[in-house]
Amino acid sequence: MPLQSASFPGRAPIALITGITGQDGGYLAAFLLERGYIVHGLSRDVSRLDRGRFAHIVDLNRRLHLHSCDMIDAAGLSRLLETVRAEEIYNLAAQTHIQTSFDDPAYTTDVNATGAVRLLNALVKLDLTHRTRFYQASSSEMFGDAKGKIQNEDTPLHPLSPYAVAKHAAFEATVNFREAFGVHASNGILFNHESPWRGTNFVTRKIARAVAMRHAGDTTPLKLGNLDTRRDWGHARDYVEGMWLMLQRDEPDDYVLATGEHHSVREFVELAFSETGRDIVWRGEGIEEIGFDASTGETLVEVDPAFFRPTDISITIGDASKAQRVLGWRRRTSFPELVSEMVVADIDRLERMRGSATGSAD
Ligand code: NAP
Repeated sequence: MPLQSASFPGRAPIALITGITGQDGGYLAAFLLERGYIVHGLSRDVSRLDRGRFAHIVDLNRRLHLHSCDMIDAAGLSRLLETVRAEEIYNLAAQTHIQTSFDDPAYTTDVNATGAVRLLNALVKLDLTHRTRFYQASSSEMFGDAKGKIQNEDTPLHPLSPYAVAKHAAFEATVNFREAFGVHASNGILFNHESPWRGTNFVTRKIARAVAMRHAGDTTPLKLGNLDTRRDWGHARDYVEGMWLMLQRDEPDDYVLATGEHHSVREFVELAFSETGRDIVWRGEGIEEIGFDASTGETLVEVDPAFFRPTDISITIGDASKAQRVLGWRRRTSFPELVSEMVVADIDRLERMRGSATGSAD
């Protein structure tokens, strides 16, 4: 049953999600569609969206509308905002890969920072600020290396990559449009969140996929950078609920979403392989370290300096107590549940691919 919009009684609320083809965009679209929203989604190539993610939504064709548009196209974004006239905009589109941001910092800034400004400016110019609430996907990467100290909304920002610098600029622009133009604009400062829909260029998904491939018979060792990097890893499904809660508040504000725990890449690898019944023993040190299967002696993991970053953050850990207190937000998925879900999903994907390649009816 569609929700009735409080401001516009008699019809469902309208949301616009930039970056709908990404991990968070897909979870957020499902979350909003389940709550009766009409959802408009934008990315450069919306044909990439896997509509299977929304198969459980009955009137999908009437309520999900997709638009191909680039975040560097100011006129295209403005036309879209004018046509859609959304009550909620979630700006998730971004060049999200940190290593790529070192290779192309100017493009990363254009999409991640100026892209957000283009949207905020269009809201003001189109006189939509009384109607539209705005969520900016800010990132814990903006904190830089807090040397293991827990980070919250008051922690000073010290970005260490062009990606984080661009996110910092978008964060400040969001605050500025809130203060200078009265836009209902909020920043979610999100710590890493993963899922089976994480891009394969991110370490968690790379590990899950490698474990699934090994399970299917591949013998190529998994190559990783620093095994002792520690991250505060949550589940994307839990975090999109927090984004929505931020826009339901009367007053816009900035919130950290995090689990408050940190785990190493090494722990992720060990848990992921244990999902397929393999225990790892580690031998050697630094770039010579190798992870072997404890019972067969096969090489499962090798360290490869190519995956070390120019400036890396050794440990991240966030304090989401403000979001918990003000929004009532809760993290629902534990770290072992997250790892397990990702590995099982990649095993299923591989089995389905093999099934369709061999024509198996299973
Ligand atoms: P993701 O899976 O990499 O998705 C990024 C999305 O942005 C895709 O839909 C991509 O679609 C779109 N996009 C990229 N360049 C674009 C452009 N020039 N114009 C229009 N669309 C463009 O990212 P995610 O993990 O879902 O993250 C969502 C947002 O949260 C991002 O802004 C990210 O920086 C931020 N964030 C993520 C995390 C995390 O741990 N996942 C943590 C903190 C903040 P196309 O390629 O189809 O254009």
